[in-house]
Amino acid sequence: METLVRYSLIARRSVRRSVWLGVAAGVGLLIGSGTLAPAWSASSGAAIAATVVATALRVRTKWKAAGEAHLRTDVELGLLSLVATEGLLFITDGSLDGPWSPLFYFWVSFCTLALQPRASLIAVAAALALELQTRSVALHETDHATFGLRAMFTLLFTTINLVFLRAEVARLRRTAKEHVQETIARLKEDARSYRLLGAGEPKQPAVETEDRLTRSSVEEIHQSVHFALLLLQQSLGLHSAVLLWLNAGESHLRVSEAATSSELLNDAPFSAMDGILGAVVAQKKVLTLSNLKASFRVPYYRDGERVRTFMAVPVLAHGQLRGVLALDREDNISFSNRDEEIATQAAQFCLRAIENERLFVQLERAKVEQGKLYRAAQALGGARSEREVLEAGVKAAREIASFDLAAVTVYDEATKSHEVCAVTSAAGELDDFAGARFPHNNGLVSMVVENRFPLPYRGEHDPHQVVLSKRLGWPKYSSLLVLPLLMRDRALGTLILGSKRRHAFGDSVRSTLEVLASHLAVSLANVRMVSALETMATTDGLTGLLNKRAMFDEASQKIAAATRFKRKLSLLVTDIDFFKRVNDTYGHDVGDQVIVGLGEILKKQKRATDIVARFGGEEFVLLCEQTDTEGALLLAERIREEMARTVFHSEHGSFSVTCSLGVATFPEAGKNWEELFHTADEALYASKRSGRDRVSVWTAPKHSEVKGIAPPKTRKNG
Ligand code: GH3
Ligand code: MG
Ligand code: MG
Repeated sequence: METLVRYSLIARRSVRRSVWLGVAAGVGLLIGSGTLAPAWSASSGAAIAATVVATALRVRTKWKAAGEAHLRTDVELGLLSLVATEGLLFITDGSLDGPWSPLFYFWVSFCTLALQPRASLIAVAAALALELQTRSVALHETDHATFGLRAMFTLLFTTINLVFLRAEVARLRRTAKEHVQETIARLKEDARSYRLLGAGEPKQPAVETEDRLTRSSVEEIHQSVHFALLLLQQSLGLHSAVLLWLNAGESHLRVSEAATSSELLNDAPFSAMDGILGAVVAQKKVLTLSNLKASFRVPYYRDGERVRTFMAVPVLAHGQLRGVLALDREDNISFSNRDEEIATQAAQFCLRAIENERLFVQLERAKVEQGKLYRAAQALGGARSEREVLEAGVKAAREIASFDLAAVTVYDEATKSHEVCAVTSAAGELDDFAGARFPHNNGLVSMVVENRFPLPYRGEHDPHQVVLSKRLGWPKYSSLLVLPLLMRDRALGTLILGSKRRHAFGDSVRSTLEVLASHLAVSLANVRMVSALETMATTDGLTGLLNKRAMFDEASQKIAAATRFKRKLSLLVTDIDFFKRVNDTYGHDVGDQVIVGLGEILKKQKRATDIVARFGGEEFVLLCEQTDTEGALLLAERIREEMARTVFHSEHGSFSVTCSLGVATFPEAGKNWEELFHTADEALYASKRSGRDRVSVWTAPKHSEVKGIAPPKTRKNG
């Protein structure tokens, strides 16, 4: 049933896909084979109407397609419109060379301009084939000279259209695109002149909102300044009131806003050093001129504009020139003192508008940055492991700056070495570095840890500079930033970011990244401290084995598992013989060494799934999963033998000690930890009682025996 549905769906889809080509081919065949009479009739009208409707529907599909339509759609449209055109000619004129025949060349133009080149070539080839067929079969033409001529013209026409018209369309598209790019560049230049953007800093993909913010601010400034200039122009009867702004490099002036009746305003930047405005820039004083000659040139006009009076007011911020407000009149009416006063105030207004906007942008930017840091702090605070902290840190950095590579190194003061703890790289360039260690050296990471200062200074990567170590070569990407992970006055390690883009780590992101690196350092220190505390709480300081509490937790789980899966489980308890004597003879420190020695033997003998713990004093326990009494006995014996063989050294001479062991197996010897430990301890006691340096196994009590301790299973060696 399912197969049937699938095949019917496939069939439906195939029919739907081929319906357009079917209509074109069907009507084309009717024309070409002479089935359709070369005159208007109900059937010929219906066939033409079908192709016209189908053409219109395909045009609609092409129109609605986002971007370039599918090649198939274009081919279908070409063939349908061909059949509609040829059909109309054939039926209306009764031949293909009648008065309506130029319609065919109109169709060629349509194809070459509206369709993709490949589709238009297919359609033109089909047109020639249809025409040859129609002439030979439907119109019984034997001489193919007319067709040859038509074919030649058609091909010529197609080529000309494809080459010239398409080239022209492409040129127009390119020009329009360039114009848009120019406008964007101009807007950016304006923003830079107003100091809304840091000079030379390209757009950061991560900060698109900021870009929008800057754009809207520039528009706001333009609006308020334009309004002020318009008021000035009206009230002082000016030809133009123009605000000229200095570029970031302070070398050129450019019209930033104007209220003018002139058609000849020059938008291009001009030198701020020359001419009449050069004098104003140099002296930073108001300049008023009247009675000007026809030869007097104002640089913000193109040639042909004449002014009779001119005033330039420097726009100063804290004594520093930022621009010039220029006013002029076509009539020779001198500027009065009051005019000058108003112009000076207007210049100050323009400056304030720009300053206010700049402040606003700074505030907004700070707000955005704080938001990012707040989110970073939240994510870092929620991280529970070192790995989570590093992941959260790198993710937060991505919100602040865009980069291709990131790595975190941690410095180990004790071994004077660095470890690469986390790496992330788009193309896996750093994958081999994960977990790598390298000694403290002259590289950037070592320098940053030592000086606690971000490097390189400009965030640009010098390919000769070692980053991690000579062995671990850092990819040669344009931008690089190594930030110290500062915790109080100590650098725990570094956060390294790399980008293929130039100037990726400019001033605008650097300070935020530095704060983030400190957050990262604090979180890293916290999770490390928590993990150290956890270790301290569960391990024995002298031997590094589990302590009594941790052993209890682990043992309870293992016993529960053994109960559930009905598996054997054995417990070994061991105690050093006459240990007090060791302490008394060789001292407490040597006694400690003996305890450590037994701990090492236990660690060596146990399997991966066994657990060992120091239970107190010189007593240890060993819990073995899936081990019956026989297996436990063998293991206990190996431990006993190795302990007896081990020689300890002290300043009072070398010596060896023995130990006694007790073995109890679940479930016979006990169904829970308390019972099992109790029986194993009893077995140990039996070993002690019967002479020490031996292993005893707890067995179920027989009716006459008081306690269920079997006689010693092993004899003392030797
Ligand atoms: P036995 O053969 O009956 O076990 O005799 P023993 O002397 O070993 O007796 P016991 O096991 O009761 O002795 C425990 C001694 O271990 C008491 C204490 O002085 C010593 N001790 C306990 N903890 C430590 C330790 O951390 N370091 C050292 N050096 N000695 C310890
Ligand atoms: Mg003891
Ligand atoms: Mg002892």
